[in-house]
Amino acid sequence: MGPMTAELADAIESLADTQILLVALDFDGTMAPLVDKPGDARSLPASAELLVELAALENTVTALISGRDLASLRAAANPPEQTLLVGSHGTERWAPESFGIDASHIDLNVEQATALAHATAVLERIVEGHSGTSLEYKPASVVLHVRQAPAEMGTKAIRIAHDKLEDVKGLWLLDGKSVLEATVLSGTKGEGLDWLREVADASTVLFAGDDVTDEDAFAVLRPGDVGVKIGSGNTRAQFRLNGPGELSILLKAVLDMRSL
Ligand SMILES: [Mg+2]
Repeated sequence: MGPMTAELADAIESLADTQILLVALDFDGTMAPLVDKPGDARSLPASAELLVELAALENTVTALISGRDLASLRAAANPPEQTLLVGSHGTERWAPESFGIDASHIDLNVEQATALAHATAVLERIVEGHSGTSLEYKPASVVLHVRQAPAEMGTKAIRIAHDKLEDVKGLWLLDGKSVLEATVLSGTKGEGLDWLREVADASTVLFAGDDVTDEDAFAVLRPGDVGVKIGSGNTRAQFRLNGPGELSILLKAVLDMRSL
């Protein structure tokens, strides 16, 4: 069993007996070792292969749940086509056609539409005054891009955007590298995992993640589920493994027991 404790092995054994198993995994730092450039991140080959094999099992649903947006997650993770995807910390969701739901469709209520229109107007004024900055329009958010602007100009544009939008009700600001996203959907990995559980109709869930935002997902696990923290740091997960390499060993154990 290698790095797995007897308790974790026992938990995996009972989990493998469940009717419908959801295997939901964070990507960066969990499936993939952490790297300097997000674009370079790739799943460990062993974990990638095991995800394919798990996805092919009957009554076993696989999912990736990440802070990345869906496009970036797909590009880096190259997931099996049956794998459910949750991106942008729970706000972006995708399910294969066989699940019969269109998760990409977003209906905004009046408050959300109003907040989004306000954010859009404010950011458009900022872009007019800061050459090289630009906006990207999404169904539930508007994104200020400053990568093409001189560094000081970009920093200033983002600071002004923060000042003007920080206290707007119903609006959340997400900082990224040379981007600021103003969104009217509040998402957490906990909400994302709840959605996955429902869509998969899962009777038991295995979730593994390495980061602070994964704690929101550990928080919605139920008795019988298995939560695995990858790496160091405080966690509310029941179990811990030291890194993506040890996750491969765990996934192999799940596959073996689930295939019996
Ligand atoms: Mg991570």
